[in-house]
Amino acid sequence: MSKTISILGSTGSIGRQTLDVAEQLGLRVAALTANSRVGRIEEQARRFQPRLAVLTDEDAARDLAVRLADTPVRVLGGEAALEEAATLPEADTVVTAVVGMVGLRPTLAAIRARKRIALANKETLVCAGELVMDAAEACGAEIVPVDSEHSAIFQCLQGCADRREIRRLILTCSGGPFYGMTAAEVGKMTREDALRHPNWTMGPKITVDCATLMNKGLEVIEAMRLYRLPLDQVSVMIHRQSVVHSLVEFRDGALLAQLGTPDMRLPIRYALTYPERGENPAEPLDLLACPPLTFARPDREVFPCLRLAEEAAGEGGTACAVLNGANEEAVGLFLADRIGFYDIARLTAEARAAVPVTRNPSLDDVLAADAAARAYVRSRV
Ligand code: NDP
Ligand code: MG
Repeated sequence: MSKTISILGSTGSIGRQTLDVAEQLGLRVAALTANSRVGRIEEQARRFQPRLAVLTDEDAARDLAVRLADTPVRVLGGEAALEEAATLPEADTVVTAVVGMVGLRPTLAAIRARKRIALANKETLVCAGELVMDAAEACGAEIVPVDSEHSAIFQCLQGCADRREIRRLILTCSGGPFYGMTAAEVGKMTREDALRHPNWTMGPKITVDCATLMNKGLEVIEAMRLYRLPLDQVSVMIHRQSVVHSLVEFRDGALLAQLGTPDMRLPIRYALTYPERGENPAEPLDLLACPPLTFARPDREVFPCLRLAEEAAGEGGTACAVLNGANEEAVGLFLADRIGFYDIARLTAEARAAVPVTRNPSLDDVLAADAAARAYVRSRV
C-alpha cells in the first residue's frame, strides 16, 4: 500500500480524482505537477502541502512561485522538472496522470528510482511500451494500471502465476457518443458532439479518442505491452453500459470479469492500495438496478481509428509511436476546430504511410518517430 505519492498531472481529471482518493486514504503528497493551470495547482498545493510543485509552462511557474511565496512549497518550471517531481525520495508511488507523450521521460525516471507507478498515462506505454516494461523489470519497479480496463484485467489476473494460462483478454468499450451512427452521420459530428461521452467525464483529449475509438485502439496496445501478449490475444467488445470493465478468458474457457460503477476513483484506489483493498465509502454497484448488460462487435469501418491502431500494433517497432504522435497532433487540431472528425483518422493513416518504421527502437528512435509524425500532420493542415 502506498503511503506518500507524487502526481504528475494533478490538475486533470485523473489527477483531481487521485487527490480525492489520497485524502480518503490519508496519504501524504510529495509533489504535484501540471502544465499551466496556476489557480488550480495553487489551491491543491495549499491543501496538500507537497514539498514540490511543478508547472511545465515557465511563465505560469513564475506566477505560481509568487502565489506560494508564503508557503514552504518549492516551485519549479519546465519539462525537465517533471523528472525531479517523479523521483523525490520520500514518495513510494508516482501517479502518471499527464496526458500525452510528455509523460514518457518522467515515467522512465520514476521507474529507475524504483517507485511504484500507478499508470494512467497510456500514451507512454503505447509509444515506448517495451522500453518502459523492460526498464520496470530490470529495476524491479511495479507498474499498476489505473486505466479502468487494464485495472480490471490486473485484478482478474491476481493469482495467475503463469501467463500461458491466458487465452485472451477482452477489453470492453462503451462505443462512445457516436455508436450506431453511419459513417455519413459521424462525419458531420463537431467538437461539442465528440466531447459528450455517455458514461465517463474525462479530459478533452481522451474524450475525443473515445469518440473515434482510438482510445480503445491505444488500450489494445497498452494491454499487449502490460501483459506481454500478441495482438491476436487482445480483443475488443462493445459494452454500452460500462459496468463490466474488462475480462480475461483462460485456457480452460473460464471467463473472469471485474464489474463496478463507472467511477475512476475505484481503479485509482486499487492502484494505491494494491495488494490490499481499503474500505471505500462510495456506493457499490447495485446489480438489481443495473440495465441489461449487452455485448457487440465494434464497427471498424465507421470507426477506422481502431483498425489503424491494431495495424500499428501488429507492425510493432516505432509504428505505434507514429500512430500516437499523429493522433495527438490531429486531436489537438480537432479540438481547436481546425479539422473535421474523420480528418483525425485520415491524417493518422497518412502519417503512418509517410513515416518509416524503425525496428527494435531506442528511446531516441521513439522520440524521433513521434516528432516526425507530428511534423507530418502539421504540414498537411
Ligand atoms: P486531463 O486533460 O484532464 O489532464 C491532463 C493533466 O496533464 C493536467 O494536469 C495538465 O495540466 C497536464 N498536462 C497537459 N499537458 C501537459 C504538458 N505538456 N506538460 C505537463 N503536463 C501537462 O487528462 P485526463 O486526466 O483525462 O487524462 C490523463 C491521462 O490518463 C491520459 O493519458 C488519459 O488517456 C489517461 N486516462 C484518463 C482517464 C479519465 O477518466 N480521465 C481514464 C483512463 C486513462 P494543466 O491542467 O495545467 O493543463
Ligand atoms: Mg480506459
